[in-house]
Amino acid sequence: MANFWNKITSAVSRKQSVATQPRVLSRDEHSVSRKQISDSALKVMHRLRSGGFEAYLVGGGVRDLMLGKQPKDFDIGTNATPEEVRNLFRNSRIIGRRFKIVHVRFGREIIEVTTYRGSHDSTAGNAAVSADNGMLLRDNVYGTLEEDAKRRDFTVNALYYCSDNFTVLDYVGGLEDLKKRKIRIIGDATSRYQEDPVRMLRAVRFAAKLDFTLEDKTSAPIRSLAPLLEQIPAARLFDEVLKLFMEGQALRVYALLKHFDLFRPLFPATQRLLDEGHESASALIEQGLINTDDRIGQGKPVTPAFIYAVMLWPVVKREYETLVASGMPDIPALHQAAQTCISAQQHHTSIPKRFSMPMRDIWELQLRLPRRSGKRATELLEHRYFRAAYDFLLLREQSGEIPEDLGPWWTAFQEANEDIRVGMQKKVAGDNSGKNTRRRRKPRNRKPS
Ligand code: ATP
Ligand code: MG
Repeated sequence: MANFWNKITSAVSRKQSVATQPRVLSRDEHSVSRKQISDSALKVMHRLRSGGFEAYLVGGGVRDLMLGKQPKDFDIGTNATPEEVRNLFRNSRIIGRRFKIVHVRFGREIIEVTTYRGSHDSTAGNAAVSADNGMLLRDNVYGTLEEDAKRRDFTVNALYYCSDNFTVLDYVGGLEDLKKRKIRIIGDATSRYQEDPVRMLRAVRFAAKLDFTLEDKTSAPIRSLAPLLEQIPAARLFDEVLKLFMEGQALRVYALLKHFDLFRPLFPATQRLLDEGHESASALIEQGLINTDDRIGQGKPVTPAFIYAVMLWPVVKREYETLVASGMPDIPALHQAAQTCISAQQHHTSIPKRFSMPMRDIWELQLRLPRRSGKRATELLEHRYFRAAYDFLLLREQSGEIPEDLGPWWTAFQEANEDIRVGMQKKVAGDNSGKNTRRRRKPRNRKPS
């Protein structure tokens, strides 16, 4: 085993003038075991090694296993180029332009294989391209294992596990930081964030998810560099938003985002309301995230549509109220407010149609849920997004935006049998007699409650 490592590390030192020796943990000095690694990831590493290449498990896979957590996915680092990896696996394809990586597919599982990245000072041709502001536009310069470790974002994400000799390798002090529960950026924080501003969101996400603290130099420049996120493509930020809010620690993430002013580039219109001290917006978002974390904790599904509906509702509601006050009937006012808000948001984080459609429905149903007489309540139950809209109504009540009144009615209605439902609808119709809920002359009286 020692021989094997000597060979690897001496190969690295031959290639580099200032190679450092990694800290090496042997099998009995760490908690990672092959049994916890997916068969597909083990197969990929095995085949790469049989093909004469190096292959390690790296990133969140090693980090989470060291912490006794189940990894979300398994990433592999190798010295094989993407084309060489592609040639070894029929079930693979090269993706990405900014960072070329290979996806090897096993049924529904995808193993991500990444070629070691090198430093950019080498004669790289156009393999690495930076913008004037230091942002990395492309990074396909390949390097050694040690260089790869230093190109990664945080020390705890730069540990390598070899499934052949069961050792864990650390070039950057990640083992120490795991012990201290610290998120520490590798290298100079400002330039690493300038290279890729998304690393600021990742710092916050890992701190929240792992319940780690951000090391001082890692957190110091974030607040002032937060506006750099405005330069990131909206589609990439959409993906990041999902990771931020759908991994079970959304409330903690939100507190950190606000602390570092990172929420502003993601949801600027919502942030403007928060700046004005809009308390019910704050309460709604926080309660929405608490509910989301609970659902994830219970293994229940959550949809990005719901999270986005929550984040943008205060903005939509404000616009809706302005339009209604100017005389527009309520449903068209809500449509227009939703349209304005979603179009503006697309410049910051894109929202695919499959999510923006249900968002609009969830919002519109907030106007329809109060109207329950006749057959309406039964019809509403059949609506595709009734359940999400009902949850949204409960959330508005829970957060104090509206009184707790309609929610309990709808809860009882769903649980009731046919006879009781008829009675409940009649009672609503009776209570409403004298006031025509279908069409009012003065739409300005209608508020979404
Ligand atoms: P998780 O999958 O649990 O969200 P992860 O650490 O595995 O966490 P991935 O996005 O899967 O995160 O990335 C895998 C690894 O690639 C990271 O651990 C890190 O080493 C490296 N990495 C990812 N994104 C960046 C980035 N923007 N800059 C530098 N390194 C990165
Ligand atoms: Mg990962």
